[in-house]
Amino acid sequence: MGNVTEGVYFIPGQDEMIPDSHTYVVGNPSSKDLSLVDPGLTGKGRYKVQSLQKLGIELSSIKRIIMTHTHFDHIGCLSEIQKQIPGAEVWIHAREADPLEKGDDRTVYGMDMFRKMCQMQYGLQADAFRLKVHRKLEGGESLELGGMVWEVIHIPGHSMGSVALYNKVDKILIPGDVVYADYAIGRFDLHGADAAELKKSLHRLAELQVDVLLPGHNDIVEKLPAGYIQKTAKQWEAYLV
Ligand SMILES: [Zn+2]
Ligand SMILES: [Zn+2]
Repeated sequence: MGNVTEGVYFIPGQDEMIPDSHTYVVGNPSSKDLSLVDPGLTGKGRYKVQSLQKLGIELSSIKRIIMTHTHFDHIGCLSEIQKQIPGAEVWIHAREADPLEKGDDRTVYGMDMFRKMCQMQYGLQADAFRLKVHRKLEGGESLELGGMVWEVIHIPGHSMGSVALYNKVDKILIPGDVVYADYAIGRFDLHGADAAELKKSLHRLAELQVDVLLPGHNDIVEKLPAGYIQKTAKQWEAYLV
């Protein structure tokens, strides 16, 4: 847990039987205009909020919650965090925001069996993830957030509305679950996943200059070797058809 670089905080996921996504907070603290990226697993809201407080982040300075995508391990504790930070908006890519607003939570759970398991284990209502999205992202936006510029890149494949956030100045990439450390990539067998799209998305990310890779799970990489994403894409290419 801590400061990855100026304006980027990292709160590691606390995995249980089900993984808990990492949470990032971006923005210059003095701006009082911070953005929280990916809350995490159901039940982890308390841990994430306590971590924010330990980092000295004032909850009222968090103005929005941006989802890299809406799988259960990322969006599970969104409502818990919203209770603590009621003013924060929710920003999600349109391809996942539209179904959620209509009560279609297939992307959240990925598959029916997992929905049943989660609803039982966490006592979730059928409409637990029917929510209001304040801003629907499309990809291609250049967001000025707390004194930093983050480009939104739509990278479908792991899920329909996966987005990466990219800061060109410091070469920081937040790719959600699309690419990880150790040449790993996100799974592509859940609802709305598409292997061919994932391949294109990896090649799209490979065009970026990235020094700092901040994925949704596992290790973060602060000095990414040149050509890392390209190499990862190549290694997986044969499976992504
Ligand atoms: Zn995911
Ligand atoms: Zn995940």
